Amino acid sequence: MKSHTDLQLPSGLEGLADLALDLRWTVRLTTDRVWELLDPEAWEKTKNPYLILQNISKSRLNELAQDDALRTEIRDWQERNTKFLAQPGWCEEHFNLDSVAYFSMEFGLSEALPIYSGGLGILAGDHLKTASDLGVPLVGVGLLYQQGYFRQVLAQDGSQIEAFPYNDPNSLPIEPVQDEEGGRLRIKISLPGRHLYLRVWRAQVGRVNLFLLDSNDPLNSPWDRAITASLYAPGQELRLIQEIILGVGGWLALKKMGIKPIVCHMNEGHAAFVVLARAYSFMHEEGCSFLEALWATRAGNVFTTHTPVEAGFDRFDRDLLKKYAKHYTDAQGLFPNDLVIMGLKTEKDYSSPFNIAFLAISGSCFVNGVSRLHAQVSKRIFQSRYPRWPENEVPIDYITNGVHIPTWDSPVAQRLWSLSCPTGCGPESIDYEAGKIARQSDQDIWNFRALARKDLIDYARRRHARQMQEHGASPEEIEAARHVLDPNTLTIGFARRATAYKRTNLLLRDEEKLVSILTNHDRPVQLLMAAKAHPADIAGKEMVKQMANFADRPDITDRVIFLEDYDIDLAQHLQAGVDLWINTPLRPNEACGTSGMKVLANGGLNLSTLDGWWDEAYEPRVGWLLGDEGDEIESPAGFGPERDDLDARNLYRLLEEEVIPLFYQRDDQGVPSSWVAKIKASMTELTPRYSGNRMMKEYVEKVYQPAADAYRKRAKEGAKLAKELVGWQKRINQCWRGVHFGHLKVTGDEEDRWHFQIEIYLGDVYPDDIQVELYADPLPQSSRGEQMKPARILMDQRGTLTGSVNGFVYCADVPANRHAEDYTPRIVPYHPDAFIPQEDSHILWMR
Ligand SMILES: *Cc1c(COP(=O)(O)O)cnc(C)c1O
Repeated sequence: MKSHTDLQLPSGLEGLADLALDLRWTVRLTTDRVWELLDPEAWEKTKNPYLILQNISKSRLNELAQDDALRTEIRDWQERNTKFLAQPGWCEEHFNLDSVAYFSMEFGLSEALPIYSGGLGILAGDHLKTASDLGVPLVGVGLLYQQGYFRQVLAQDGSQIEAFPYNDPNSLPIEPVQDEEGGRLRIKISLPGRHLYLRVWRAQVGRVNLFLLDSNDPLNSPWDRAITASLYAPGQELRLIQEIILGVGGWLALKKMGIKPIVCHMNEGHAAFVVLARAYSFMHEEGCSFLEALWATRAGNVFTTHTPVEAGFDRFDRDLLKKYAKHYTDAQGLFPNDLVIMGLKTEKDYSSPFNIAFLAISGSCFVNGVSRLHAQVSKRIFQSRYPRWPENEVPIDYITNGVHIPTWDSPVAQRLWSLSCPTGCGPESIDYEAGKIARQSDQDIWNFRALARKDLIDYARRRHARQMQEHGASPEEIEAARHVLDPNTLTIGFARRATAYKRTNLLLRDEEKLVSILTNHDRPVQLLMAAKAHPADIAGKEMVKQMANFADRPDITDRVIFLEDYDIDLAQHLQAGVDLWINTPLRPNEACGTSGMKVLANGGLNLSTLDGWWDEAYEPRVGWLLGDEGDEIESPAGFGPERDDLDARNLYRLLEEEVIPLFYQRDDQGVPSSWVAKIKASMTELTPRYSGNRMMKEYVEKVYQPAADAYRKRAKEGAKLAKELVGWQKRINQCWRGVHFGHLKVTGDEEDRWHFQIEIYLGDVYPDDIQVELYADPLPQSSRGEQMKPARILMDQRGTLTGSVNGFVYCADVPANRHAEDYTPRIVPYHPDAFIPQEDSHILWMR
């Protein structure tokens, strides 16, 4: 079995093993030079230092060990890293969290570990790196796919061809996990008619471990060995089993390794089966009922939804689900239907398919979307689970995504930020909130931008030339590719998944117009594009083809490049070097989007529709808005050619009239001061706000710590509180029908206050089990995007109703700045330790 020690490195270079195997360090560093020295070709093609160390000859290593400067650099890096890891992190200093398990179907940490497809995976990778930086006690759980997500190559005619490379575990920066006896750790999960063995691998991300499961064990049948062959495998059943492996297998693996998570965080619904696995474990350990176990563990479950359209969630035939559920429930003495209900759109809707996101939401007390706008949209999607509750009270909060800056900023940006840091902070601890960037002179900022742009152009030329070579271009063509683009020209970047809602080809809607903009003699513009379409997305593939063919036009070959195979390495360079990053999704289809955040620390500016994160970040000072402010959330059906025409025209107008002139408007020293002012505003204000650090701190403060506290409280003393809550809910369920309103009396006047007095009959429900409230819809929004907050006024009990059984009078005073008719009395369940309406959605309105 391999480990660090197998790599026999000469003295002075030992630090390379840590550097190669620790995925926290898949950032662009000056030490990258060493990989290039060791094996330029492998470095360029794989970005996998571990592979390079495995294959390098002893003599080459010994040669390098003579390089004093290199040895010093590696030693310095190692010392700084060791020192940093030894300090208590922000989280350890301020919080009392033991262990958070973070489940995700994909992790985008590095090209060296290709188990991601796009934004969701990149976010998960950044989450782990940030957790490490801040000392959050987190472990990642995912799957190890035998095939990486597809690599893109283009055919002669520009169409996308998919290649599925084989992930050889031996050359990936991971190691097999061993059991107590030193053998291979195996997890056994049962599927209908058979057992499935899972192997466990470990990847290191700074202080954080990422555990990956795969089914490619010789003890499994050939079909079963291929279950984890690829990411997002087609076919419902395969997908279902993958999700069972992630949730159930992942949970069992943690248990077997002695890790007891207090909080389970599901990054998207794929991991929802952990809700069940965790509750089963709890049930067996505590000897309680499944329902009690669910009540105890739910408080420690967190679900982050990433999809703004309901069709985006995985849905399964209920019969298929029952087949698998039955297998579990029989063994536990439960009914399959109890599980199926948890994944239905409404509890009584037996016609809808099983939706994995509904399982996640019904198994979690903490649910969040990934931007303010996305939370609003998600409330609508999940409203059906909370019948008769107003949409704005659907319990979905938001924590806007952020990016792990050290992964995405270039070495030149890192240098600039460290200069602006108060006390010599190295690349592992830059204080992005210091806000000192604004104090740098305009010249310094502009020089930094020139270096960043130049660095990108060099990279794009290399990558472009290599791709030409792979396509069998002639030596002249390849040589020409090494000289395209110009380091002083306004450089626009556009890279994305090619898919309908992102409108990846909107910029090309009027190709002639675009060409005229690009080739303007006085104010030229150059464009770097990349796009990958899902293999089954026909329309997306057409977009790729159009973009590739456009870049091939002979009149713009030196201005436009389509770079194949958009990946982390390309993003690290592209987002670091561009002056302008364009994003064109159709609102509100982009849950958040993170690529635009990656340009912030690098001094790039954003131009985007008001979707995802830009909806909350945009101000004229920091960038540009495409389209109008549209505070109404349009339905996703807003797709249409007229809309695209309009947005494309606006896009060209913005570029021609605002963006390009600003860039070329220079002062005596050649500095575009208004452009630089925007850079400064964007860098100081937006960089910290859309950083992984801000995101992680919000998760810890708003979610992880409260979830940990709530879980511990419910679980202690043999789950005493959880049992009490089960009893409480049972009473509510049985007796709710007996609750009703009597008379309402409103007195007071418009000048002063309204006094509400209402009679309530509770039947067999205890008064302590409910709350009486006055509710009023939120007032119309005063400004863009402001959170819509309804009025909820708690009514006080003012004694019993004479001559009644369990009848009470409740009162409240409200200021008369709204009509009395705006307020409606209502009764909702109450328990100081229950989450309402997550855990009980009864509600009675006086209508
Ligand atoms: C950041 C990133 C994404 C996500 O970008 P979006 O703006 O969310 O579309 C996708 N792929 C790669 C390689 C990335 O680096």
